[in-house]
Amino acid sequence: MKLTILGATGSIGVSTLDVVARHPDRFEVVALSGHRQVELLAEQCRQVRPVYAVVGSAADAQRLALLLRDAGLRTEVLHGADALVQVAALPEVDAVMAAIVGAAGLPPTLAAARAGKRVLLANKEALVMAGAVFMAEARRAGATLLPIDSEHNAIFQSMPYDYAGDMARGGVRRILLTASGGPFRTTPLDVLTTVTPEQAVAHPNWVMGRKISVDSATMMNKGLEVIEAHWLFNAPADRIEVVIHPQSVIHSLVDYEDGSVLAQLGNPDMRTPIAHALAWPERIDSGVAPLDLFAVGQLNFERPDLARFPCLDLAYRALRAEGNAAAVLNAANEVAVEAFLDRRLPFLGIAELIAATLDVVPQAAVPDLDAVLEADRQARAAALKILARQAAKRA
Ligand code: NAD
Ligand code: MG
Repeated sequence: MKLTILGATGSIGVSTLDVVARHPDRFEVVALSGHRQVELLAEQCRQVRPVYAVVGSAADAQRLALLLRDAGLRTEVLHGADALVQVAALPEVDAVMAAIVGAAGLPPTLAAARAGKRVLLANKEALVMAGAVFMAEARRAGATLLPIDSEHNAIFQSMPYDYAGDMARGGVRRILLTASGGPFRTTPLDVLTTVTPEQAVAHPNWVMGRKISVDSATMMNKGLEVIEAHWLFNAPADRIEVVIHPQSVIHSLVDYEDGSVLAQLGNPDMRTPIAHALAWPERIDSGVAPLDLFAVGQLNFERPDLARFPCLDLAYRALRAEGNAAAVLNAANEVAVEAFLDRRLPFLGIAELIAATLDVVPQAAVPDLDAVLEADRQARAAALKILARQAAKRA
């Protein structure tokens, strides 16, 4: 199977290359992308010898080309957003790992779907922003969408019918999305006003990129995943329930009308869903240790507290509002998380900024990619304006 790995230098990208390296006879890497991490990307190119490597800027492309030339590689170096779209849709590529973080991942992920590829979908923001457009295009092109997000991968594995993903046909009553609760599940509410980026990115169970780690701390990650589940499984908002499960061993559950509840369990290691989607419908070794239930001991469950995690409530509201609301939510969240990581916004300001942005951007339909990108642009501008106004007030 020939692969393009978008976001190869990130947490999911590195885990993907780890699984791929265990099966050299099975996978061939045609293209890799890494935005700015030129040295790591060069090292990855030395290992898998892709035909193409993509970086963000011309200057980084020049640096990478020099490193690859010194290593005696003939990998062609490309740069920019168009190059990402190009390597996502190469005719010789069978499968595309979509593991760029954030809205930047939408155009190439959509290009892979439009080209009818097997799309290994880690970039949940693409589906949150453009769910209707994305699902329609994927269906039209006959793309195979395989979720990498551990919860959605678990749901997929727990639905014993083909991945048209229509829970209405499958006798499904509810989807139960598990959530670890992140690093602040039990932190006193008054302490949350002063938590730092370092505390927010220190996730108890998963090792992930910085943006998704902050999203886990606010539980916006679970909110984005509710929207992702809505599109992937044709699930109405009121049939997707979030369950806090601090051990992160049950990755999600499907509750059927006859009372059966099916779940997928495993150690919290993204190589499991990655290997599952790479080999589907077969099974291959992922390098993940067998689950030791005796060591786990207990599985606990709690109802999420929406006062502690207002971002989760905002995401449900955006899903119910339809139109551009989810794209606005996503863009405002990206602006807010970046500001928090740069220490320009307190932790509790993240949800406030998103709510304020949703209030000011007018509702609109999003019939195509241009409309989605316009909603994204409007929301970023609005969120930045609100941030600037807050900063001016403090000064
Ligand atoms: P990360 O920050 O570790 O890596 C992000 C990758 O995207 C890097 O390769 C980076 O070079 C690239 N990138 C960043 N900005 C870019 C831009 N503007 N243009 C092009 N490329 C850009 O992130 P991650 O944790 O690997 O997450 C990747 C995606 O997978 C996210 O959408 C995240 O929500 C999703 N996801 C991650 C995990 C996890 O365990 N890490 C689990 C589920 C879902
Ligand atoms: Mg997840």
